[in-house]
Amino acid sequence: STQAPILADSKSVAGVKGTDSERTFIMIKPDGVQRGLIGKVVSRFEERGYKLVAMKTVAPSKDLAEKHYADLKNKPFFPSLVEYMSNGAAPVVVKELSQELIYMSIVSVWEGTDVIRQGRVMLGATSPLDAAPGTIRGQYCVSIGRNAIHGSDSFESAEKEIGMWFSAAGELVSWEPANWKWVMS
Ligand code: ADP
Repeated sequence: STQAPILADSKSVAGVKGTDSERTFIMIKPDGVQRGLIGKVVSRFEERGYKLVAMKTVAPSKDLAEKHYADLKNKPFFPSLVEYMSNGAAPVVVKELSQELIYMSIVSVWEGTDVIRQGRVMLGATSPLDAAPGTIRGQYCVSIGRNAIHGSDSFESAEKEIGMWFSAAGELVSWEPANWKWVMS
């Protein structure tokens, strides 16, 4: 068959914690997409030695943005965070051009050893002003409300977020680069 192999272990979309099949959910948020940071983010994960197992564009509904950030629903910045992720936060002049495109994000799933924790390290602190130089937020951002990228902060979050944004059966692909065993040994 010419079809890519589909993930078999559908019990856990975040793979097996603590093994090289561990997976995390990484989202390039609307400001990251608008600023052209997709390639830089993807390159960092690829170059680190992580494997892309799913990626797509999304313009999430308000409901999905609220569900994704449900843990933060009592925070004062929650309404503006949801607007930023879904709709309504664009400058008026931009809104008139094309509202949907403003809120496009890239969602992806990356797999590999310690990818959840390392992904967080690569992102940098939530506030870009506290993020170490060389981290994604520390290199490309200055505003906590426009910090370009999201990454799961635990195995449980990864499991929940991958399941929320992807349908595991059809969208996560299990594959191995031709030279993988040798490169990663
Ligand atoms: P992280 O994205 O690093 O996991 P949180 O889960 O605490 O951080 O917050 C989710 C997102 O909410 C942040 O990435 C940021 O976009 C936004 N956010 C967090 N704190 C603030 C704040 N004080 N003001 C505005 N936005 C915030």
